[in-house]
Amino acid sequence: MAVVELTNVSKYYDQLEVLKDISWSLEQGQTLGLFGHNGAGKTTTVRLILGLTGTSSGQISVLGKQGGGIDAHREIGFLPENVMFYPQLTGREILTYFARLKGASIGQVNDLLEQVGLASAAKHRIKTYSKGMRQRLGLAQALLGEPKLLILDEPTVGLDPIATQELYELMGKMQKQGTSIIICSHVLPGVEPFINQAVILARGQLEASGKLSELRQQADLPVKIIATG
Ligand code: ATP
Repeated sequence: MAVVELTNVSKYYDQLEVLKDISWSLEQGQTLGLFGHNGAGKTTTVRLILGLTGTSSGQISVLGKQGGGIDAHREIGFLPENVMFYPQLTGREILTYFARLKGASIGQVNDLLEQVGLASAAKHRIKTYSKGMRQRLGLAQALLGEPKLLILDEPTVGLDPIATQELYELMGKMQKQGTSIIICSHVLPGVEPFINQAVILARGQLEASGKLSELRQQADLPVKIIATG
């Protein structure tokens, strides 16, 4: 069963058509790269998957449910671009707050703080955290409740190479556990080793989609992805 399936999805904001007859699917346990230039329609696609907005036409099925993420806060882990938390709270406080919202246990908060390397920093206020630490806290927040689907929006933008590597290592662990993942990105380099499926959007249109190994056969694929960046 596909974890996410878009069938002939179009989306308008007033008169502006921002997604045009888009179809693609993500299979269980796979990691899909959703590529496109600014304004290509990546965030709109994520909003649809999270059930924050509806399609203008066409169908979307998420974890077997029609119409977007019905119980998105529990079943889908979401790390937005440039995640912002209350700066006055500590890492542990914010994770505890989200754990209560998601019905996750304090035991899981402790495990995740350990897993993302923030156990000793958890007592410090978030305003003292580096960007990499905030992203790792954001990933821990996304993983609360053991979501079946993880959506990461430009997860490494603004991170230094070490923080980027650390985030990718964590993502690799999630993959081994069988989590299905969508990574929104402008470009292929960096995320390439982690993805096995790709969807390339350009001004709301589907340029290409499918298994990365098959798309690689297309001579102009790297150009398409790099050109969208
Ligand atoms: P970015 O990387 O900049 O977030 P994107 O690929 O995520 O780009 P979207 O945010 O989905 O693209 O935007 C697609 C188009 O829809 C853009 O032209 C944008 O201006 C427009 N748009 C997005 N959200 C709204 C909205 N709420 N109301 C009206 N137009 C919108």
